[in-house]
Amino acid sequence: MKKLAVILIAAALVILAFGCGAPGRESGAEPGGTGNKLVVYTSFYPLYDFTSKIGGEKVTVKSIVPLGAEPHGFEPSPKDIIAVSEADVLLYVGAGLENWIDKIIASVESSNLVSEELSKYVKLQKFAEITDYDRHGHVGEQQGIAVERAEAGYDPHIWLDPVRAKRISQVIAETLINADPENAGYYRKNYDALAARLDKLHWDYQEGLKKRTSNIIITTHDAFGYLAERYGLESYSIMGISANAEPSSKQMIRLVEFCKQYGVKVIFSESLLNTRASQVLAAEAGVAVLPLHSIAGLTREQLLAGEDYFSLMYKNLASLKTALGCD
Ligand SMILES: [Zn+2]
Repeated sequence: MKKLAVILIAAALVILAFGCGAPGRESGAEPGGTGNKLVVYTSFYPLYDFTSKIGGEKVTVKSIVPLGAEPHGFEPSPKDIIAVSEADVLLYVGAGLENWIDKIIASVESSNLVSEELSKYVKLQKFAEITDYDRHGHVGEQQGIAVERAEAGYDPHIWLDPVRAKRISQVIAETLINADPENAGYYRKNYDALAARLDKLHWDYQEGLKKRTSNIIITTHDAFGYLAERYGLESYSIMGISANAEPSSKQMIRLVEFCKQYGVKVIFSESLLNTRASQVLAAEAGVAVLPLHSIAGLTREQLLAGEDYFSLMYKNLASLKTALGCD
């Protein structure tokens, strides 16, 4: 394990450089012992938020992807790998979203890190099963977007469905309890509060979307399949599964036709993505643009404003209600 040796040397250098400021527990510390908090690395924002809410003051929670960035296309640095290898727990979504996670896990193989792939605990769907742009039958030939989806495998955007979010929060709570049984009661209490908020969110979505006059939503990238499935909506996206693709002019023309044919009133944009394609489509189709947050990361402004998973999910509900004619 040449790679591991390199990492260990690098880790030693970091410890030498920063002394007791190095991340992780001191060696020999009792699990859940006093003074040393459990160090949990999450891959990106929604897991960071849920883990912070459950772990509270007993856990130091970190995010590998900076909170203001998109997990798609992220690359961890050697420093990230060292930091994770020093942690107690690693939580990630999996299902191919963090395509760099295997590299991290392989590098920290021999440490005591407990890692948990949360998407293993919920029912996953393939992108192609969720929405097929051709389903309406008005587009003659096979769409580029649909083909790309079919090859991509499973949709990892599980946190945008409050019911799946509750299940992964439960797994997070169980993981913290196993890693730090001394504080089990504390984690359980925090999980119960989080679960109640997720139940309420689910209820509010069901109620809020009841009087809609349309089921069609057009998003920037294909992140809202589980949300759409949960509430009986049909989700189409401009960029497909890739968060940085640009639609071709042929696809744009079809999307404009699609908007007109199905009376689409709103195109959704995402705060961390380039919104140019949404703006162009909206202008061409003569419709409005509203934000719909994937919550994969928060902008600087959102972080400063104290936004979190819940505040953004409620903003999303407000956008959906406007777009689907619920008001
Ligand atoms: Zn995404």
